[in-house]
Amino acid sequence: MSIHHHLDAATVMRYASGDLDAAFTIVVASHLAMCDECRRAVRLAEAMGGQCLDDAPAPALSDGAFARLSHAIDADGARDRPAAPADQGIRETLRSDVPLPLRRLVGDTFDDVRWRTIVPGVQRHRIELADTNSSLYMLKIGRGRKMPEHGHGGSEMTLVMRGSYSDVLGRYQAGDIADLDEHVEHQPVVDSDEPCICLVATEEPTRFKGVVSRLMQPFVRI
Ligand SMILES: [Zn+2]
Repeated sequence: MSIHHHLDAATVMRYASGDLDAAFTIVVASHLAMCDECRRAVRLAEAMGGQCLDDAPAPALSDGAFARLSHAIDADGARDRPAAPADQGIRETLRSDVPLPLRRLVGDTFDDVRWRTIVPGVQRHRIELADTNSSLYMLKIGRGRKMPEHGHGGSEMTLVMRGSYSDVLGRYQAGDIADLDEHVEHQPVVDSDEPCICLVATEEPTRFKGVVSRLMQPFVRI
């Protein structure tokens, strides 16, 4: 699996220190099940001591911090180590298509998911969680379909699990994660032959920009 879009360095730190909301934790854990690079980054962050990092202000991380972090882990020889026991489960995950951390919530295959159509070509499955103020849901979007252009009231994290989409930030394929803050506005368009299936966590209700989209929002509750 070739992954081009990874977790933000601040997210790695927050995950390692147990500071992420439950909905975001599941999206991050699902990406980690697919991504060697981010797993190494989390291991290093944990080794550095999550508790100390917890007190450091996230904005202090400079551009390129993540790349340096990964490079430091590679230099540490992590690439040459034998697969950890957890990696066995990861290979199994890839066969079943549903990341391991998500299976207890939605079942072993995407066919088990109870999809509900919210607009033509777009289906959604909400995942109810206790102890969260965020939303967690899966989307299944048909080829050529667009999500309404939107900004965010807070952070949004989208993990592609099957198919692909493109937006102003690039092309996202299976394993890629869009780890976005509240300043980003985008309009993903599915460009794969098969439907694109994503796992999405949002901190606040998403703000759609168009009049029709805004009118629709109370009904689709994204
Ligand atoms: Zn990654």
